[in-house]
Amino acid sequence: MEDCIFCKIIKGEIPSQKVYEDDKILAFRDINPAAPIHILVIPKKHIEKITDLQEEDSSYITHIFLKMKEIAKQEGFAEKGFRVISNCGKESGQEVMHLHFHMLAGKPMGPLLAK
Ligand code: 5GP
Ligand code: ZN
Repeated sequence: MEDCIFCKIIKGEIPSQKVYEDDKILAFRDINPAAPIHILVIPKKHIEKITDLQEEDSSYITHIFLKMKEIAKQEGFAEKGFRVISNCGKESGQEVMHLHFHMLAGKPMGPLLAK
C-alpha cells in the first residue's frame, strides 16, 4: 500500500519545515496555518488515529507530550500558552489519516469550537 502523506514527509519524499526530529517523532510546520504558529507533531510509526492506539504505542504518546513541552519553550510560546488538538475520525474533520497533534499558538485561541 502507498505511504500516507505524513509517512512521505517522515521519509523526506515530501519536503517540510522541520521544527524537531528524533528517532520516534517529527514536528513540522503546518502548510496551511490556522494560527500564527501552527506545528504538527507526529509519531514515526503509522498509526491512523487515537482509536487505533495500542498499549504498545504508549511510549510514543508520552514522548510526544514531553517533546511538545520542549518545542513550546524552543519556539517561545510556552509562557503565553498554546492549544493542542488531535482530530479523530469523520465528525472531527480529520483529513490526514496518520495520528498528529496540532500545536496552535501566537494569538488568543478564543472558544474551543467553531460554531
Ligand atoms: P487534520 O484535519 O487531519 O487534523 O489536519 C491535517 C493537517 O495537515 C492540516 O492542518 C493541513 O494543513 C496539514 N497538511 C496537509 N498536507 C500537508 C503537507 O503536505 N505538509 C504540511 N506541512 N502540512 C500538511
Ligand atoms: Zn503514515
